Amino acid sequence: MTENIVHIIYLIASVTFVIGLKMLSGPKTARNGNLLAAFGMTLAIIATIVFHKGEVSGLVYGLIFGAIGLGTIVGWLTAKRVQMTKMPELVSLFNGMGGACAALIGLLEFEHNIGNATSIAVILTGMVIGSVSFSGSMIAWAKLNGKLRKAIRLPYYNILNTIILVGLVVYAIYITSSGTHSETHLYALFAAALVYGVLFVIPIGGADMPVVISLLNSFTGLAAAFGGFLYGNQVMLTGGILVGSAGTLLTFVMCNAMNRPLHNVIFGAFGGGGEAQAGAGVDGNITEVSPSDLAVQMNYSSKVIIVPGYGLAVAQAQHVVNELEQLLESRGVEVSYAIHPVAGRMPGHMNVLLAESNVEYEKLKEMEDVNPEFTQTDVVLVVGANDVVNPAAKTDPSSPIYGMPILEVENAKSIVVNKRSMNAGYAGIQNALFFNDKTNMLFGDAKKVLTELVSELKNMD
Ligand code: NDP
Repeated sequence: MTENIVHIIYLIASVTFVIGLKMLSGPKTARNGNLLAAFGMTLAIIATIVFHKGEVSGLVYGLIFGAIGLGTIVGWLTAKRVQMTKMPELVSLFNGMGGACAALIGLLEFEHNIGNATSIAVILTGMVIGSVSFSGSMIAWAKLNGKLRKAIRLPYYNILNTIILVGLVVYAIYITSSGTHSETHLYALFAAALVYGVLFVIPIGGADMPVVISLLNSFTGLAAAFGGFLYGNQVMLTGGILVGSAGTLLTFVMCNAMNRPLHNVIFGAFGGGGEAQAGAGVDGNITEVSPSDLAVQMNYSSKVIIVPGYGLAVAQAQHVVNELEQLLESRGVEVSYAIHPVAGRMPGHMNVLLAESNVEYEKLKEMEDVNPEFTQTDVVLVVGANDVVNPAAKTDPSSPIYGMPILEVENAKSIVVNKRSMNAGYAGIQNALFFNDKTNMLFGDAKKVLTELVSELKNMD
């Protein structure tokens, strides 16, 4: 009887995950989708604890509720306090924690399943994937928050990585098939998987991080699914499969966006050539524009495209960008936004940011759709974007972003780039667009200069 109740609750929870995920795909329903899936997860946790088969001591219940309470407080406070620009690294940290949980399941369950080769195979696979996801996500976290900016490449790192990966698989097969009771082997495999996670992410540089972030995300989902399979827990299995497949799909989207084949990611031959020389020869004269001159130019334009980038998030300029758009539209200027799939620091960063200021979703145009429109555009306003508009991706084979499709803003009649200095973006390379004859630089913090631009436009009434 209780078993049936648990199954029904797990089914309800699984359905909330699927519907919640579907609702997350639209800005209007995303918030409720998140709440619905969280409700399903709470239901599943309660059902697991309440209807658990077998003896559980009071101490264990105390530890479970203590851990849930502590986790809830830490998670709540962190999520409440995090700034929008720190969100990508927080997502990496949470993803790593998911991987760590899956690895811990493997470490704990190993001794309970000795003699059962299928279970040991499931346990070791989940543990290896979870460990790689954990240590890889920690490196991704350090790369996203700037603590580890440079790509570190050991000699022959791609060959080394491939050898370690093959070694992990062979070692796991040996442990499974030999039926060994030795926990030393288990911990050696665990340590090797952690090392592989570090070596897998540490050489990745330039602008290639989005692919790796989404891949690690899918690893965590897969590792959790193996845990669900081991316990015969349908809700954990469903949740893991959903995260794993969503992460895999996102990985393909990101690979597509970066124009990188997936096998390059997995086998370490990733990130292209020398960042040091790339962009070194980029030089020339730059021209500046003032907010008042730009206000005049925009006021007499018929079509304006805004290109948001990471700097828009740093400056928290999403509301003033929306105000600028409204003002221009009220004067008959057609305004839209060009969204590059890897702009910002996490997949969908710009969409989330602009949705926060109630920019209409229909105005956000994807790269393939908007690129042909630049030739008929009077003014392109690049706000805090750099790598995603860098023509070196098309012209400089030594560039770490070579091959990445970019927003072809150089085709517009006039280009205005807002940033604070001539500093490079995430990939660490200079941008020839800034020296283009059609480009005018609008230096300053995005929120500050766009506020000035808006007030200049208002003064033109
Ligand atoms: P970039 O990092 O290339 O450039 C951002 C620019 O914003 C900088 O050049 C900076 O110049 C400027 N900036 C910073 N603060 C401000 C401010 N307050 N006001 C105005 N400008 C500011 O960003 P893009 O969005 O163009 O490209 C994203 C990069 O991040 C890509 O290389 C991508 O691969 C990578 N990445 C993306 C992830 C994703 O999932 N989307 C994940 C990890 C990495 P200055 O200092 O002169 O102001």
